[in-house]
Amino acid sequence: MPPFSRLRPYRSPALALAIVLLIGVGVATIWSIRGFSRGTEWLEHTYQVIARIEATESAVRTAESTARAYRLTDNPQQQAEYLAAVPVALQHAADLVALTVDNRGQHQRARQLQQRVQARLGEIARLVELQNRQGAEQARVATLTSSGIGLMQGITVLAGEMRHVEQQLLAQRRVAIAGRASLLTGFIVLGIVLPMVLLGLLLRGLARENLRSRELEREARNAMQALENAAVVSGRLSEQRRALGIYAGLLQSCESLPEAMQVTAQVIGQLLPNAGGRCYAMRASENIAETAARFGWESVASAGRLEPSDCWALRRGQPHRVGAGHGHVVCAHLQFADAPPDAWALCLPLAAQGTALGLLHLNGAQPLGTEDVGVIEAVAEQLSLAMANLQLRETLRVQSLRDPLTGLFNRRFLEENLQRELLRCERRGLPLSVLMIDVDHFKRFNDEYGHAAGDALLAAIGATLRASTRGEDLACRYGGEEFTVVLPEIGREAALQRGEEIRLAIAATTAAHMGRTVGPTTASLGIASFPADAAAPDTLLDRADTALYRAKANGRDRIELARAGDARSASPADAVLQSR
Ligand code: GH3
Ligand code: MG
Ligand code: MG
Repeated sequence: MPPFSRLRPYRSPALALAIVLLIGVGVATIWSIRGFSRGTEWLEHTYQVIARIEATESAVRTAESTARAYRLTDNPQQQAEYLAAVPVALQHAADLVALTVDNRGQHQRARQLQQRVQARLGEIARLVELQNRQGAEQARVATLTSSGIGLMQGITVLAGEMRHVEQQLLAQRRVAIAGRASLLTGFIVLGIVLPMVLLGLLLRGLARENLRSRELEREARNAMQALENAAVVSGRLSEQRRALGIYAGLLQSCESLPEAMQVTAQVIGQLLPNAGGRCYAMRASENIAETAARFGWESVASAGRLEPSDCWALRRGQPHRVGAGHGHVVCAHLQFADAPPDAWALCLPLAAQGTALGLLHLNGAQPLGTEDVGVIEAVAEQLSLAMANLQLRETLRVQSLRDPLTGLFNRRFLEENLQRELLRCERRGLPLSVLMIDVDHFKRFNDEYGHAAGDALLAAIGATLRASTRGEDLACRYGGEEFTVVLPEIGREAALQRGEEIRLAIAATTAAHMGRTVGPTTASLGIASFPADAAAPDTLLDRADTALYRAKANGRDRIELARAGDARSASPADAVLQSR
């Protein structure tokens, strides 16, 4: 709808025209009323003229008849009536002359009539005078010779003519008055109808404008509301963006996967206080996703551990949403049965370079906005990157601690961890044993089969050592063809037994090299135990090494236990130990 009515430009000219029309109708009405009034006056005037003609004629006849009666009867009463009628007739005739001033023809006729009336009255007066003076006979003779009858006929004819003319004027004026009356009626009707029509149009226009202004007001209100909502959303978005920025910084400072998961859980709990869920981390060795952190209140129960096939997001490698109008294909790790009716669940795979690293799962009973999903996706993306980084860092760390040829821990790792393991066992009052292993005549082996074959056999021995040790043992390559095995919580006797097993296992180890089998070869072992032989890590290693030398000296392919007399050097801790 346009912002203004399309008739708006015509409103002022239309109003001006309406005012002009109304003034016109008013002027025309006044003009018609005045014309009508004038016409009525003329009608009245005509009636007066006709009445005067009638009166003049009648008064002359009265004078004539009363004079005649007086002459016949000599009755003074008749004489008095005659005398009264004469001035009346003269007056009427004079009035008639005065009344017809406006009409030339009638005025001439009125003057003639006046003359004839005067002449006739003069004739009658002469006869009455004659009778009074000379008697009735003389008067009768004079009457016979007088022109009285002719004069009276002339009066009658003239009066008739005048009446006829006035009748014509009367008819004309009636027609004119009727015309004026019609015109006046027309103007009055126009004067009523036109303002009503204009008023109607004006009211209609005003009503439309009112409607339009109310619509504009509503539109403005809606626009204002939309603006306010947009401001709220933008405020929330910038708050979320700020929180995401902080989150990214925190993630970079995380040193382990569980720490990153905990930080993620806290941030999601802050960003979406109405949602609950879990961060799962993949345990690659078992192909299982395990709960690493939880947040909020879970409206839909989710399993603590799950296989990738239990989750559609992990299966398909893309977000999967259920409930609240987003499909009904529920992941197997979710229990929707006890969930509220409006419950929803969202699973986002955590992956980097095509490798599944974990799963971010959220659920709730209050609707999730599009911008919230965007935030969660951003969190999942950042967490995936952080997990990949942490995994890479862990790999590098492990690589730096492992010997690449044998896959065993290196000497650095041994030195870093032996102290820790010793303290742990000491705290718990448990023993710890160290095995030093050296392959027998390996130089000779190299010389006979080549260095590469020697490498293959060393790698095979590494595998044997890994297979022969528990998770808590530390199997290390000490250097060259020497190995160290740390056995926490294992005393001298048990160590001897484990050493024997290892010796036999090495003696049975062969390697495939260049299409042939190389080995087996034997190894010599020296064992030292905490607390019996030493308390400090380096002393313990020295004591085991000394025992190993003895094994070599005694003919190889054997085990020797550390002896008290073996001590070549002692740390302050050992000095304390030995003084006990
Ligand atoms: P002994 O029974 O007295 O220990 O005799 P040995 O020959 O094993 O002892 P020696 O210390 O004289 O020689 C160790 C040999 O081990 C020398 C070296 O060539 C070999 N060696 C050390 N590290 C490696 C390695 O990484 N690969 C191969 N192929 N040989 C190695
Ligand atoms: Mg050696
Ligand atoms: Mg050797």
